Amino acid sequence: MQLLVGATLIDGTGSPPVPDAAVLINDEGRMVAVGARHTVAASPAAEVIDVSGMTLLPGLIDAHDHLAAHGYALTQRWGLDEPQSTTHLRTASVLQQTLATGYTTVRDAAGLDAGFKLAIAERLITGPRLQLSLSIISPTGGLGDRISPSGHSCCVPPNPNVPPSVANGVQEVRQVVRTMVRAGADVIKCATTGGASSRPGHGPKDAAFNHDEMLALVEEAHALGRRVMCHALGGPGLRLALEVGVDSIEHGCYLDEDPELIPMMAEKGIFFVPTLTVYVFHRERSAFHVRERGRALQSHHLESVQRALEAGVKIVAGTDAGGHEHGINARELQYLVEAGLSPMQALQAGTGWAAACLGWEHDLGTVEPGKLADLLVVDGNPLQDMTLLQDPQRIKLVLQGGKICVDQCTKQRVAV
Ligand SMILES: [Zn+2]
Repeated sequence: MQLLVGATLIDGTGSPPVPDAAVLINDEGRMVAVGARHTVAASPAAEVIDVSGMTLLPGLIDAHDHLAAHGYALTQRWGLDEPQSTTHLRTASVLQQTLATGYTTVRDAAGLDAGFKLAIAERLITGPRLQLSLSIISPTGGLGDRISPSGHSCCVPPNPNVPPSVANGVQEVRQVVRTMVRAGADVIKCATTGGASSRPGHGPKDAAFNHDEMLALVEEAHALGRRVMCHALGGPGLRLALEVGVDSIEHGCYLDEDPELIPMMAEKGIFFVPTLTVYVFHRERSAFHVRERGRALQSHHLESVQRALEAGVKIVAGTDAGGHEHGINARELQYLVEAGLSPMQALQAGTGWAAACLGWEHDLGTVEPGKLADLLVVDGNPLQDMTLLQDPQRIKLVLQGGKICVDQCTKQRVAV
């Protein structure tokens, strides 16, 4: 058993911080007692870890990452710039680095295959708990269609563990959903619009899929026990995704343009993963047409986040990292605060609400008895300065299921 004592606890539920808290963890890696230190009965068998003066949080969750992506350039997207083995090792190092920055769980929004999950389970490498989507399902011409701006198809043979994801018509949609599940998808990712970075001609408000196709996709995914995360920025494709009842809207930049959309989200309990970080990158560093799209959507995106928050929609932190830099996932929490969430709400967006979005709230997301001890101890108080979560020096302790993955406080350990 382990007993963490002395930190200020922010438990991820939105409750006020608890000073001088204690968390008792059993040998199965689950928390058995949580609260102010005097309320937690210490077991004599427990190893005591003194984290006084620091802040204890649930392990962070990124609900939209592309851990196996290493740049937006076509050569990188198609894997032409280096041997596949090099890319896989690069991905492994991203997994380790992401965990080391306090991210104990990641939902991968396409690209990462189930082999990485297996490698983590076999302890070949360390990494966050993974919820995988494998590929983005779209019709021909949509986001899942691997075609270059020159009109050429991808020349690299497909990885069978990341199945082809173009589907036209109800039958193909059902078949592709089943193929994803067979290859190890925990969640189904689809796209009903273009995006900022998609090819010219398929932009943020250009629709993909018709009503029957999307209804079939959601039905099939739910029948197989998978949630649906849907890339949708604006226009009729965004409305379609909400109407057929996807489980989360990724990006949602133009939700503010149709007054019926946000109430519909609130009523159906659909999560909103705005991924603010990627648009900062697109506005500053991407190709010309992408920068233009990123700038055009900015004010709508902020308005959408604010209105969704007011309507009671759960906002969830996701970075869309992969095209842009890995390893600074906590920037999203800073941007959510700048977009109008309170610091406490931003932390919920990266912990409790994120776990609920993944459907893993029974085990993860908050510091409560019964849940897995995925925990983060930081030097300083993120409610006063959210940016400190981006500084690896301030990440003092990371536990995943009670196992210590990062330990920069060994000096303070006391054996009892
Ligand atoms: Zn994405």
